[in-house]
Amino acid sequence: MSERLPCQTPGCSATILPTTALKTGGICMPCHQKKLALEKETYILQNRKDVDRYAGIIDPVEILKIMHTPRKYNLLENDLPYHRSAQELYHQLTEAERKRLESYAITLMDRGDFDQAETILLSLVCFTDSWIEQGLHAFIHKGKYDPGILYKKAGPAIRDELIHRVGRDSANRNHLLLALAWVGDEVVIQLFAKWRQNPPQWASKLGVPPENYAHEAGWELDQDGLKRLLFHPESYHFKVSGEVLGRTETIQSAVVALQTDDQVCHWCGGKLVVLYDCNLQDPLVYFMKLPGQQLRIADCMRCNCYGTMYMKVELDGSYSWSEYNIVPDFLSETDPAEELTSYAIRLSERLRGTYEGSYWTLEATSSQIGGHPAWIQEAAYPSCPCCLETMMFIGQVDMEQAADSEGIYYSFLCGACLISAVNYQQT
Ligand SMILES: [Zn+2]
Ligand SMILES: [Zn+2]
Ligand SMILES: [Zn+2]
Repeated sequence: MSERLPCQTPGCSATILPTTALKTGGICMPCHQKKLALEKETYILQNRKDVDRYAGIIDPVEILKIMHTPRKYNLLENDLPYHRSAQELYHQLTEAERKRLESYAITLMDRGDFDQAETILLSLVCFTDSWIEQGLHAFIHKGKYDPGILYKKAGPAIRDELIHRVGRDSANRNHLLLALAWVGDEVVIQLFAKWRQNPPQWASKLGVPPENYAHEAGWELDQDGLKRLLFHPESYHFKVSGEVLGRTETIQSAVVALQTDDQVCHWCGGKLVVLYDCNLQDPLVYFMKLPGQQLRIADCMRCNCYGTMYMKVELDGSYSWSEYNIVPDFLSETDPAEELTSYAIRLSERLRGTYEGSYWTLEATSSQIGGHPAWIQEAAYPSCPCCLETMMFIGQVDMEQAADSEGIYYSFLCGACLISAVNYQQT
């Protein structure tokens, strides 16, 4: 057996075989690996170059095309971001520029690149509320129906094609029903009402009655078969500043979000958090049509992950634990004394599009009051535990944006019974 030698790195007590020493220049394998990694890092630091793929380009359509093109990761290139977000660029597009992007999406689909085409069409639909009839023709021609939100403004020809297919195409029926829910025009409303009366044969194979798919598009049939919206089209988003707020600091805003309160959770004993404190006298939130001074929607952010949480609210800002809360089967054992660290978030005073924050994988901030919710999983509008009506969506807090955490808290209200509800979803 050959004699082992000490590793030559100062401070390392490992011993090595002479053959290893020959290979590494006298140091042990872990030290050798460390040295190689350091050399690589130094090489990258010295040779890394800034790459500005937008240099000299002023056409917003070309800039967006570059933004949407996936890139191979290269350690030696430091990709400089564009100084404005895709969302901002989409807002400024002219009608002709939007058409050019739609045509580009069609070209991408012809090439089989659906991911990129989908992102462009989604951005057009959510950020600019564009009518993308040609893009949809290409999409439906390829047998694509998901994401259904793309079909939001589809005209009669596409709607009728969806109706034609839904009875025949069992493999895509789920997506076809979602697309129809998003179309949601008079013909679809009547069709859903007809199905509620006389369920089609294939309905027994679905998890829910076909008319319930309307929830995914934010509406339902009322008792008379009319469309009832489950959200307010008016929407304001929250802007986040990096500052962390102290407990006693307050913010001037029509709606103040995420304040720890002194009332405690009846399940874990931890402090409740007021997700939304709405000043109902502020014209910005008149769209809620709530006659009163103040609405506070609170929940326990720990326990809420395991079930919907209700509060009895009054329109003077007071609230109390609801008798309708049912303890979930499972609750986590986190320390109830642990308090939320949240950033200062303020309500923007600029009205924004109803659907801007409603597709959660698009890079747009999705903490908002009003507007269509960004469901991470399936739509989950709670029923009011008192009158059983589906509750109205009030707003959502995206924890990634608001507190470096994850998931979204969705809040709801039954205006008739004055009961609030909050539920939570994450990936
Ligand atoms: Zn060593
Ligand atoms: Zn709790
Ligand atoms: Zn109710």
